[in-house]
Amino acid sequence: MKCQVLVVGGGPAGSTAARLLAEKGIETVLIEKNLSFNKPCGGGIPSAGLKEFFILDKIQKEVKFNTVTKVKIVPPFSEPIEVSLKNGEILIFNRYNFDSFLRKLSELQGAKVIEGELTNIEKVNNKIKSTVKDKKGKVFQINSDYLIAADGVNSKVCTLIGTPKPDYYWTVSLHIPINSRPKDTCEFWFGNSHASFFYSWVFPGTDYLSVGTGSEDIRKLKVLIETFIKKRFTMTLNSFTLRAYKIPRWRKRKFFKNNILFCGDALGTVMPVSFEGIYYSMKSAQFASEAIIQKDLKLYEKLWNDNFLMQFTLMKKFQDFMFGNDERMDRWLNIHRDPAIQELAMALWLRKENGTKLIPLYLKAFGSFISRIAPFKIK
Ligand SMILES: Cc1cc2nc3c(=O)[nH]c(=O)nc-3n(C[C@H](O)[C@H](O)[C@H](O)COP(=O)(O)OP(=O)(O)OC[C@H]3O[C@@H](n4cnc5c(N)ncnc54)[C@H](O)[C@@H]3O)c2cc1C
Repeated sequence: MKCQVLVVGGGPAGSTAARLLAEKGIETVLIEKNLSFNKPCGGGIPSAGLKEFFILDKIQKEVKFNTVTKVKIVPPFSEPIEVSLKNGEILIFNRYNFDSFLRKLSELQGAKVIEGELTNIEKVNNKIKSTVKDKKGKVFQINSDYLIAADGVNSKVCTLIGTPKPDYYWTVSLHIPINSRPKDTCEFWFGNSHASFFYSWVFPGTDYLSVGTGSEDIRKLKVLIETFIKKRFTMTLNSFTLRAYKIPRWRKRKFFKNNILFCGDALGTVMPVSFEGIYYSMKSAQFASEAIIQKDLKLYEKLWNDNFLMQFTLMKKFQDFMFGNDERMDRWLNIHRDPAIQELAMALWLRKENGTKLIPLYLKAFGSFISRIAPFKIK
């Protein structure tokens, strides 16, 4: 089989890339190893993110979702902070439904979607020759000019071409069924007793609560989730299935190697502190597609840096400074009681407004926070 672009992985990154490329008449094949995969994920995405991709109305009509209009932040020691979202909301999707919908859109634009797993890559006469194994075990080759690695945090493409995979944290999560009307609040709980260098969350899905926590160390997960469930729900875990999964820890990495471009979790594009990855994986796919369309692969990194580098770098500094130290975290979270800081956070995170303009304001708030605590310099 031949095509101009082979996209490996049919999550939000891969299916967005396939759609945008096919839309421009580029012959695109997307392979996804498991079309029934329901990724363990909170499934939360701000509606503004979907609007930016012109798919908000369609997805709201065709896919079941729950609307969240409030956020509850629970600091390690202080009273919870409740924030009503303004001019935007978070939509919560089941990931199987969300990913299937995005893949269907890519097919409607003319991309060919195949259920198959990438098992090998070779370079033959300036072409990329990929070996794919389908569900029935049949093996075949796809020759392409470009390959987009959108195969997630465990990227097989990275392994095959000898590029380091993203660093990661571990998460563990479960679904608790809810019989009553889905709730309207996402909860973020902070504190080392139940989340290590991470937060614990409760996200209300369409008919379940996605509940989970994270850690830098897989061995801590069981105790952390047990502690959280006891603290939040005053119950034990006995009857629930736990799923552990990695989430990338962002750091600046190579955007492409030869004609292979890394997107989404395979590049590590998860926002530090909030651990939001769906929107940013779709944006990386958009920029990578644009670079292929323009036949200028360096454009990919430029677009990413122009739009997000500053925000990611700053949030990474926050994360390194704040997480792991409950007292510091508690004080930092408390500055979010200030309506002006809430507004800034909402503009950046919920409404996806221009980070380059807003970051200096956030820095100012952070600076005044720093000056109020023990001497510390941001490197
Ligand atoms: C527990 C948890 C909760 C999260 N909650 C949120 C949240 O609420 N909101 C948010 O924005 N982000 C959240 N994230 C992050 C988000 O899930 C990811 O950032 C996002 O899914 C990245 O999309 P992707 O397309 O890059 O990768 P993925 O969604 O991981 O998709 C990769 C795809 O590649 C396929 N694949 C892998 N190897 C191969 C192969 N060899 N051949 C073919 N196909 C292959 C996989 O089957 C998979 O479908 C969460 C993550 C975790 C772990």
